[in-house]
Amino acid sequence: MIRPLRLWPDPVLAQVCAPVAVDAGALSLAADMLDTMYAAKGRGLAAPQVGELHRIFVMDATWKTGTPTPEIFLNPEVLWLSPEVQPSTEGCLSIPGQEVTVPRSTAVILRWTTPEGAIAAQRLTGFRAICAQHEIDHLDGIVTLTRALK
Ligand code: ZN
Repeated sequence: MIRPLRLWPDPVLAQVCAPVAVDAGALSLAADMLDTMYAAKGRGLAAPQVGELHRIFVMDATWKTGTPTPEIFLNPEVLWLSPEVQPSTEGCLSIPGQEVTVPRSTAVILRWTTPEGAIAAQRLTGFRAICAQHEIDHLDGIVTLTRALK
């Protein structure tokens, strides 16, 4: 189900999300988030962008250029950020029409809970590393505009 997108400066986008119980409600929300992300032509979406203060984000790094690879990250944690940082010019579905350049690590190690309830950990690089940092920022109430001002 496609949900309405929350747009900056909606105050929900400045709040810190709480850990989520991995249950049917969380999985239903994640499915709605993927529907909403695809409908908005995005490659990543975090729960506050649909008004839910839960630590969930979804990503599909490849659907725009080939085969869809939907991914659901529940309670994601950053275990390591590469010291190598590069400027990243990013759009955001909650800040339509405005691209902002922010510093991002080129690689990140994430740990999260899968929809099946397993603990996963992976080193992300390339677009997935950048997107994961953008979406985890949303879970901490940070958007590109606020990070650019720091
Ligand atoms: Zn965003």
